Amino acid sequence: MALHLVSHPVAQDALVLLRDTSTPAALFRHLAHRVGVLVAAEATRDLPTTPVPVDTPLERTTGQQLATDIVVVAVLRAGLSLVDSVLELVPNARVGHVGLKRDEATAVATKYSSHLPPSLSDSLVLLVDPMLATGGSAIMAVDVLKEAGATRIRLLCVVAAPEGVAALAAAHPDVDVYTPALDRALNANKYIMPGLGDFGDRLYGTI
Ligand code: URA
Repeated sequence: MALHLVSHPVAQDALVLLRDTSTPAALFRHLAHRVGVLVAAEATRDLPTTPVPVDTPLERTTGQQLATDIVVVAVLRAGLSLVDSVLELVPNARVGHVGLKRDEATAVATKYSSHLPPSLSDSLVLLVDPMLATGGSAIMAVDVLKEAGATRIRLLCVVAAPEGVAALAAAHPDVDVYTPALDRALNANKYIMPGLGDFGDRLYGTI
């Protein structure tokens, strides 16, 4: 498994305010979208293209068109914040959702819903889940995707913890992770330190 650190200065700059406890939900959503675009750009950097003819107003030339079907799958609810980031770059991507609930006491995830597009086997699936903490949710979401036939999966997040990266690598070594931040560690409550708190709560103002 490869960990891709997105060092783009604009992503790093946005992370400052995402981490800042005084950032209001509206700005948080805006910044999450911006970071998501940069992470999605990195996660799609090596996609194959096919040459296609195109008529400009002046002459015929050849362009390069994406040659892979892309599916973006959000882990509810925080992952919703990154769906539009991917769609901004790949408007024709198909969209799926996996509903996972993290038990506040044990941090163990359970699945409560799954709506995925059909025929995933030839697609590149970009799984979006902003906080890779214990890895429990990511592992379960990848399990769900593989059961549905997905064979190529990449995880896009905003902040990752070393514990989550290691757990995902052990369970699914074929899934690469794209993140602008690899933080220090989890705390006793399984929150990422320094992290940014509960992503979903900050996104939707449910604190
Ligand atoms: N989920 C979050 O939203 N934040 C964390 O720090 C860990 C998991």
